[in-house]
Amino acid sequence: MPTTAQHLTASDVPTWTVGDVAVRRIDEVHLPPQTGPWLLPEATPEVVARSPWLQPDFADEQRVLRLASHSFAVEVDGLRVLVDTGIGNGKQRANPAWDNLNSDYLTRLTEAGFAPETVDLVILTHLHTDHVGWNTQYVDGSWEPTFPNARYLTSRTEWDHWAGFDMDEARQQMFRDSVHPIKDAGLLDLVDVPAKGTEIAPGVRLRPTPGHTPGQVAVELSSRGESALITGDCIHHPVQLIHPDLGSCVDIDPAAAARTRHVLLGSLSGTRTLLLGSHFPPPTAGHVIPDGDSYRLVPAH
Ligand SMILES: [Zn+2]
Repeated sequence: MPTTAQHLTASDVPTWTVGDVAVRRIDEVHLPPQTGPWLLPEATPEVVARSPWLQPDFADEQRVLRLASHSFAVEVDGLRVLVDTGIGNGKQRANPAWDNLNSDYLTRLTEAGFAPETVDLVILTHLHTDHVGWNTQYVDGSWEPTFPNARYLTSRTEWDHWAGFDMDEARQQMFRDSVHPIKDAGLLDLVDVPAKGTEIAPGVRLRPTPGHTPGQVAVELSSRGESALITGDCIHHPVQLIHPDLGSCVDIDPAAAARTRHVLLGSLSGTRTLLLGSHFPPPTAGHVIPDGDSYRLVPAH
């Protein structure tokens, strides 16, 4: 099996429409096949086999979960928003799938109509390595903000958690190259996210979805009576619709993460809200419907 992520070359930009809002997926990489068994160890081939709808899109021929890294770019009422910034290029990382990446992400973002200097707002659902990477890029010997005209935003709870966390060297490195430069440039805003959520711009709402990290937020988009929800990492993969208790190995508070998934999926089930998964492989998005005593995803291509 390859140990590095598969690079993407397709120039098509998958797009979903939510009222007047176009949601574009900006691909970074398909994560390598060892990612699924590491991240979601309880999602064994036997578990996958019990839900044939997961194949072929969401699991491969060996019934191993597929996972991807991408951002979502949206323009809402003239505000140009990027949700999460992936792994980034040239970052030294312990995970071989993320180490020293060299993807065409910025080209794809630009081709999708979101040249870096035109982005107004970067929402960081949480401060993990694979969600903050393109915050910065290496220019003339230092890590500089990739989106110089944007405000970057994350929840205050998330910031406070990591500020008080005894980080190992790898995590300190990530903060040094991808988080501190935007803070030092005065571009980072911390947002209080109450239990009922908070609207940060017309049609853009942060919803607290704690567990994976304490300050993890999902991003709700609404326009003309239609809505969508970008998961961040409260749900990593559609298999968690079938098994909401099935957690990831990097959920900081597994019980809270499971509660979040139950509440979130219950609120989405049977609605027209489009679920957009931050690590869901193509087709990436769909509607949540009840299925027995849990749920399934009806893909929206
Ligand atoms: Zn992630």
